[in-house]
Amino acid sequence: MKSDPVLLVHGGAWAIPDDMVEAHLNGVRNAVAAGWRVLEKGGSALDAVEEAVVIMEDDEAFDAGRGSFLNREGKVQLDALIMEGATLRAGGVGCVEHIANPVRAARKVLSESPHVYFVAEGAEKFAQEHGIPLCRNEELIIPREVQRLRALQANASQQPELFAPTISHDTVGAVALDASGNIAAATSTGGTLNKAPGRLGDSSLIGCGCYADNQSAAVSTTGWGEPIMKLVLAKWAADRIASGNLPQWIAAEAMNYLKDRVNGHGGIILLDAQGRFGLAHNTPRMAWAYRTNAKEQSGIRYPV
Ligand code: ASP
Repeated sequence: MKSDPVLLVHGGAWAIPDDMVEAHLNGVRNAVAAGWRVLEKGGSALDAVEEAVVIMEDDEAFDAGRGSFLNREGKVQLDALIMEGATLRAGGVGCVEHIANPVRAARKVLSESPHVYFVAEGAEKFAQEHGIPLCRNEELIIPREVQRLRALQANASQQPELFAPTISHDTVGAVALDASGNIAAATSTGGTLNKAPGRLGDSSLIGCGCYADNQSAAVSTTGWGEPIMKLVLAKWAADRIASGNLPQWIAAEAMNYLKDRVNGHGGIILLDAQGRFGLAHNTPRMAWAYRTNAKEQSGIRYPV
């Protein structure tokens, strides 16, 4: 089936402060440009979401790749998932500390392993064996995040609500439809600030922070991971699209469900194989951008 390509990305949902808006907008626009270069040449949705996410992992504005939040022990620990809607092939890595672009490692898992998910040293070993360079953890740490962690740990007793919407959630994600009518999704994150070592959030878990099935939708979520995991929110949304609901309606419903059922907060982007898409967040802001043949748009709130 021939389709007009569509690409949507997000760069986290939270109370993005005014002085960080421009950096977030630049980041999501650059990501869309990179993914679109793949789609306009007739490339696959899978390649497009990978390339879009790599751009945001490399951008220190986001909580993915270098510049991510630090865990309680001052280390960067990264999680990513990529999934293909035509085949349901998926690849994930969790708690990796020496990979600058975990989505690339996740893609290797999808393409070159009979398994779906690798964690920690096993993930790094697999990645290295498949041509992904390893780095030192220090190379992923930037001074801004060292200061941020120090400030939080110094005021730990005065931070009763660690996951208030003012706490940043800068996870990145992308969903795409290619000219062949296939959809794909990818999500990549450094997780939450001051997380316990070994903690995994929703982002890289199939059906929680990321999902793709040509028969339903491609989905990427961001926000406070634990509530999103409990609801298996990406799959929840995809199932409702398979039942005939419109993506924009389901994006909004997913945010209502997240809030009402488990008092969660975050954001979601989703896209079906007909090119219909939806975006929603229940945080003050979410960085997003999309492109179709007819239109290119980005923003810091949706609807604008
Ligand atoms: N959902 C991510 C996590 O809990 C955080 C985020 O979206 O920024 O790990």
